[in-house]
Amino acid sequence: MNKHIPRKRFGQNFLQDASVIANIVHAVNPQPDDVVIEIGPGLGAITKPLLAALKHLHVVEIDRDIISRLQTEFPAERLSIHAGDALVFDFASVAEGKLKIVGNLPYNISTPLLFHLATYGQKVTDMHFMLQKEVIERMVAEPSTADYGRLTVMLQYRFEMENILHVPPEAFWPPPKVDSAVVRMIPAPGRCGVAVDEALLEQVVTTAFSQRRKTLKNNLKGLLDADGFAALELDPGLRPENLPVEDYVRLANYLSGKGHKAKRP
Ligand code: SAM
Repeated sequence: MNKHIPRKRFGQNFLQDASVIANIVHAVNPQPDDVVIEIGPGLGAITKPLLAALKHLHVVEIDRDIISRLQTEFPAERLSIHAGDALVFDFASVAEGKLKIVGNLPYNISTPLLFHLATYGQKVTDMHFMLQKEVIERMVAEPSTADYGRLTVMLQYRFEMENILHVPPEAFWPPPKVDSAVVRMIPAPGRCGVAVDEALLEQVVTTAFSQRRKTLKNNLKGLLDADGFAALELDPGLRPENLPVEDYVRLANYLSGKGHKAKRP
């Protein structure tokens, strides 16, 4: 087979470090009958060892050249290739039951992809992703830190997350300019309360973080008045990063109770 030329626009940095690959597969812990979906199989660094442990594997890949290589290399009875964009892929369509999702994700689309994947919380047992280290630091951040933001709140609302492995640039070909890490995400619905209207929670969080340096009073103007802050026992002088996830859920539920509805696009 011809040598594949990595495509920057698809975030192609291929894993080549055998111990990193083994650590990821060990963390995923695939069992023969598990339904596993790999996002962006690329040249198969994780795909091959996953398939060695599984009866069948699903992959979602956008690059046509890579798709034809995968078709040549793996029989269709073992590997289902879903050709297309993971950002709009319906992960629930693959199986009736629960899924495991795994991937060394293209870094250029990691934030929108995480928001898309977050909607499958009910459908997955766990997800393991290689991402830029800074993104994982934002995902697992504590309140009142510089990394704590919209991504943190919306993912911690739905998942327990753990940074399980640091991966240096040399583990890839070509090496990326940044350090990477692997995150484990396990659905934990209700861990920070239950939002009556999740779309409203998302809007409230986006609005609260619209200007990080400003106070909640400022960012939530027109949404939450002084009485609202008092009823929720929240200090209007706090900044968005000071509020734990539970407080965002309380805030969204308070607004739902006052008749606010999420604006539909
Ligand atoms: N899993 C391989 C590895 O670890 O060596 C490749 C990882 S590479 C960082 C990202 C992979 O995702 C590439 O195969 C790329 O073509 C694919 N990809 C990029 N954008 C995608 C998208 N929107 N949907 C599906 N796959 C995508």
